[in-house]
Amino acid sequence: MATKTAAKPTAKPKTAAKTAAKPATTSAATTTNGTNTIGSVHVPAPFFKSVAQNFDKAAKALKLPSGLAEQIKACNSVYYFQFPVRIRGEIQVIEAWRCEHSHHKLPTKGGIRYSTMVDQDEVMALAALMTYKCAIVHVPFGGAKGGIKINPRDYTDDELERITRRYTSELISKNFIGPAVDVPAPDYGTGEREMAWIADTYMAFHGGRDINALGCVTGKPIAQGGVRGRREATGRGVMFGLRQATADKHDMKLLKLTPGLEGKSVIIQGFGNVGYYAAKFLQEQGALITGIIEWDGAVINEKGINVEELNQYRIANKSITGYPKAKTMKDSKAALELECDILIPAALESQITSENAPRIQAKIIAEGANGPVTADAEDILLKKGILIIPDMYLNAGGVTVSYFEWLKNISHVRFGRMERRFEENTQSRMVSSIEDLVGRNFRQSERDLMIRGAGEEDLVNSGLEDTMMSSYEEIKEYYRMHKEIGDLRTAAFASAIDKVATTYRQLGLFP
Ligand code: GLU
Repeated sequence: MATKTAAKPTAKPKTAAKTAAKPATTSAATTTNGTNTIGSVHVPAPFFKSVAQNFDKAAKALKLPSGLAEQIKACNSVYYFQFPVRIRGEIQVIEAWRCEHSHHKLPTKGGIRYSTMVDQDEVMALAALMTYKCAIVHVPFGGAKGGIKINPRDYTDDELERITRRYTSELISKNFIGPAVDVPAPDYGTGEREMAWIADTYMAFHGGRDINALGCVTGKPIAQGGVRGRREATGRGVMFGLRQATADKHDMKLLKLTPGLEGKSVIIQGFGNVGYYAAKFLQEQGALITGIIEWDGAVINEKGINVEELNQYRIANKSITGYPKAKTMKDSKAALELECDILIPAALESQITSENAPRIQAKIIAEGANGPVTADAEDILLKKGILIIPDMYLNAGGVTVSYFEWLKNISHVRFGRMERRFEENTQSRMVSSIEDLVGRNFRQSERDLMIRGAGEEDLVNSGLEDTMMSSYEEIKEYYRMHKEIGDLRTAAFASAIDKVATTYRQLGLFP
């Protein structure tokens, strides 16, 4: 196990502000043991603790030897650093992290978020979730997560670019980024633009030496080595996951719901990359979007909200509040408690806690965000009979398509480029033979549909659809086989832990 402890005290002269460990701790050691200690110092870790609580429940059902369970649970490396950036004439010292949770497979993978709420506990918890998420959807990566403690709204584009490039240089200098090492992606507060800056900075250092350098980050713009369908992938995956879950007649009967997405009322918290696309694709499937909740207020209409129209309103007004075809609710948190069939928290973690869980009225909670339901809240929700579709499965569409992008980068060819025309020619000959046999010609529109070869986006979307469908069935199978597991999250955790444990066992590290 190559466990990095990169945040040893460093004394690089031009980064005087860089320190080895979070100031709140007194130890420079940064390899954590997964029980919320850093070196020998205890740090309060509510989110990581919540993930660890879920882990323990599943590991118990699997009856893993304790050493193996501890190894899987532990965060292998946490790199905490600070760097100075000149902002409007003043030097600001910015705090940042990159955490690699598990190196059982390489590279490690996970987003980078820009938010004032980022701290060590959060990146550790999110990195751990990435490990399990990748295992669930058969993406051969370990989990990682990074963050910069800033509010991106406080900075100009130029300042954000300087912060992003400096953050990337710090990761490069400690070997915390690279196509074979650790591959970041977008997360809360970041997108294609930031990924392009990261790729460009990495290319400046490694471009001429490593032919796979572009695979150092995913979620890039298409022209910078991105893959078609990545932007929509998480939201599309949420739709596929919900389509699969609501197709289960037995589960829907227990919830007193009809099978299928058609007509289901949906409230979504977050109208960013995940929430917006989830809303759009669910609406296309016939679901009724009755509420959208953002940080500055919610818009509600029981008869349904036109997602595209709301998006246009948001672009023009920089907020969804005041949208004329819905009622605006100022209290965003209270909107989570409104009646609906499906509630999709797709913004941040810890949105449904033991405080508001008793008042949640949704029948299904579909976790678009990472960790939106705390472990304590989950107990309450499960007792109320609510079906929770866990984050590590439901929002795994993003990392699944990131995997496709990374494959594209290291294979240096667009999906479909070699076979598309060949497929079309073969299919065209087949259609002509059928026409000859039956003595009539197909309509041109029918013919076009039959002979069309798959392009990159078709292949990406079908790979994503297949992944989301088969992974759900795998979790359900676990749930059925292990009677002691009473909920989908524990089943998802157990299925993921089992896969990681198998890797360790096959490496000969554990019995
Ligand atoms: N930030 C996303 C997540 O939490 C994407 C990660 C990735 O694509 O690597 O799943």
